[in-house]
Amino acid sequence: MNLALITIGNELLSGFTVDTNAAWIGKKLSKIGVQVSIHITIDDRVESIVSTLKSVSDKNAVIVTGGLGPTHDDVTSSAFFKYFDDTPQFSEEYWEVLTQRFLKITSTIPDLNRNQAMIPTKGTTIPNPVGSARGLQYEKDGCTYFSLPGVPNEMKAMMTESVLPFLEKKSHHNLIVRTIRTTGIPESALAEKVDIILREHPDVSMAFLPQLIGVDIRLTGKIESKISSCQHELESELGDLVFGYDNEGLENVVGTLLLKKGLTLSVAESCTGGLLAHRLTNIPGSSAYFKGGITSYSNEAKMKLLQVEEDTLERVGAVSSETAIEMAEGVRKLLKTDIGVGITGIAGPGGGTEIKPVGLVYIGFSMGEQSYAKKFIFSRDRKGNKYLTSQVALNMIRLTLKK
Ligand code: ATP
Ligand code: MG
Repeated sequence: MNLALITIGNELLSGFTVDTNAAWIGKKLSKIGVQVSIHITIDDRVESIVSTLKSVSDKNAVIVTGGLGPTHDDVTSSAFFKYFDDTPQFSEEYWEVLTQRFLKITSTIPDLNRNQAMIPTKGTTIPNPVGSARGLQYEKDGCTYFSLPGVPNEMKAMMTESVLPFLEKKSHHNLIVRTIRTTGIPESALAEKVDIILREHPDVSMAFLPQLIGVDIRLTGKIESKISSCQHELESELGDLVFGYDNEGLENVVGTLLLKKGLTLSVAESCTGGLLAHRLTNIPGSSAYFKGGITSYSNEAKMKLLQVEEDTLERVGAVSSETAIEMAEGVRKLLKTDIGVGITGIAGPGGGTEIKPVGLVYIGFSMGEQSYAKKFIFSRDRKGNKYLTSQVALNMIRLTLKK
């Protein structure tokens, strides 16, 4: 399905408002397998809106946000009525609803709001569960057009209740969608690895959705058996690179594995500041296997709480494989768990040197008689490096438990 997104507002063009609506809508649509093929931001003028609607009329759907309010600068409804050559009717019924809503807050309702009681004759209205401006929906030559308010929480409520379910039905008409989640391989290498499989399955369309924490492969097709056979071939080609399916996160997968094996886990974190513990505890029921985490952000904390040797810190420094291992062993001993993980690194933007650059991270792992650390150099910003580190640590746990 081909969709155009139009965001309306002078404030978006001047940069006074950041277009968060477009980002939110894009994400939500990609989750249901609908791709935004073009996104246009335009000013609040009827002519701009009408000509832009014309220019995207070859799409299957068009979403417009902004300019649905009652004031003179809100002209989207007028533009829609003009484009669809519609003569709206005044709805006494909706005017009564609006009046009652206003009277709860003030003593009168401004006449200006009468605009919002104009309903289309050729299209329909989209209910607004959190505000007064209802949306508009029209069909023309195989394309469905939606007009939604610019106010983010109103737009989101209407997308969630009306537009997304409608588009999901329209785009998935007889379609099966399956998402295979991978981590530890860049998009291009992944695409190269599965290129032959892709060619051998002309009835299954494959999309790569790269994210910070890995690449999802989305399979779409009409025949279940063909999707399944493509999925199985991908799984055997990719092996351990596949960590889950659909909405499953790595923290869910690790939790399930720990439960299955009856093992417990504790973590000692420096540069991730508790993020790994946070992700682990986002999973309901995690107390069954996660015993606790120590955020040891200073040398003192590493020595006092985790028994990291002063000598180690002086000799090789806090960001080293030795320290990561001692942290993993220390937290494991302190909290009496089967597995201990220790993370130490330089998240940036400052603090790097030639020998120990920004993004350098050591992840220590301790289980049974075995303790080791792995070295990584990440190249994202501070938050990105922290998140990637937590992902890689979760993946280390997963890979060990799968053995
Ligand atoms: P209102 O009834 O408030 O006038 P509206 O549907 O006419 O609603 P706009 O006037 O376009 O919407 O915008 C209302 C508010 O929502 C403004 O504060 C605006 O900055 C914000 N807004 C509009 N479009 C976007 C967008 N694309 N991303 C984020 N915020 C937006
Ligand atoms: Mg407005």
